[in-house]
Amino acid sequence: MKFNYICTECSRQFDIVPELMVCPNCSKAQRSDEPVRGILEINLEGNVNKQFSVFDMLPVEKEYFPAIPVGNTPLWQPANIRKNAGFANLQIKDDGVNPTFSFKDRASFLVSAFAKKHRINEIVLASTGNAGSSMAGIGAAAAQDITIFLPETAPEAKIVQALQYGASVYKVKGTYDLAYDMSLEYSRLKGGMNRNTAYNPMTIEGKKTVSLEIFQQLGNVPDYVFVSAGDGCIVAGVIKGFRDLLTLGLSDKMPVVYAVQAETSDALYRAWNSGKFENIPTHTVADSICVDIPRNGYHARKLLKNHNGRIIRVSDATILSAQHELASNGGLFTEPAGATAYAGFLSEKNNLENDAQVVVITTGNGLKDVASALKGVKAPDKSIKSIQEIL
Ligand SMILES: *Cc1c(COP(=O)(O)O)cnc(C)c1O
Repeated sequence: MKFNYICTECSRQFDIVPELMVCPNCSKAQRSDEPVRGILEINLEGNVNKQFSVFDMLPVEKEYFPAIPVGNTPLWQPANIRKNAGFANLQIKDDGVNPTFSFKDRASFLVSAFAKKHRINEIVLASTGNAGSSMAGIGAAAAQDITIFLPETAPEAKIVQALQYGASVYKVKGTYDLAYDMSLEYSRLKGGMNRNTAYNPMTIEGKKTVSLEIFQQLGNVPDYVFVSAGDGCIVAGVIKGFRDLLTLGLSDKMPVVYAVQAETSDALYRAWNSGKFENIPTHTVADSICVDIPRNGYHARKLLKNHNGRIIRVSDATILSAQHELASNGGLFTEPAGATAYAGFLSEKNNLENDAQVVVITTGNGLKDVASALKGVKAPDKSIKSIQEIL
């Protein structure tokens, strides 16, 4: 298999080298308050066996990946949830069981291997919380030095995780968007590899592995895939993975991919309808998808448009009730951004055939943000001294 970069705007091709993160021409048009310009995709050429391994389809050789079990997450059939929804072929791909408990490990894993291959030992990134704790954990397994810039509002569990893994953590007085810009500046001054989502092409490429696994686990391509979207990297990775399978002749169709956003942090959705990205302050209970400037906005929009994808929105209240439904009926406790995908499925299911193969991707573990999860349940309001009080 041969790999190289191709610019998603001008289609120019480049060798894969760590000094090149975005297209040198298209990135000249970059403004500070808009999505990343000149995103580079990995182009694959060659043949793979029908019994392929995920590593066969990645642009870094297997020997450079750290010894930590990323991916191969369960695709499972939640009986009660299926029954309640009336969808006999509903499946859940639970990426909350990754080593650092979020989907972000797929990107960190490939970035770590890419840096290792090129003997780069420092990795820097901005994060709403999960990408940072993920890179910290995967980096610990690879003996790499990780520096993270986080908004000061990031959930405590995600910060504690990053610190436990031994990363250097900087809290930023402002939003994720400020952290993003600061981390780029830090990389420019200090060197190392920058793992900012979208900007580093390996982040999108690493995320495609979820689709390769879904295909292997189902034995075919599902009809619909639901995933939540903030920066739009995961949804782009999901589409890229299915497109690679199709291009290489391993599959014969694309799924319809739904990007689900929070109603109150909906920059991708707004740009989908208005044609332009506007930097408006947003908020949502789903902190992992709370993004004002979706860094992979142009690329995600293009992939969704080219492959019959959809963008929908759900309210914070439906996110919290979807979270509680998955937990109480399925035994699956996912963080609000993970439940957003399921809330999207619930809001859309009347438009789908109820025998369709549907995959909902839950992207993070519920314990990552206990404060938000508490909003969806009623905590016991007093302690009791004897069971007489409750009989
Ligand atoms: C990062 C993240 C997302 C969204 O991914 P984007 O690439 O920003 O769209 C969704 N869920 C969880 C748990 C995440 O950490």
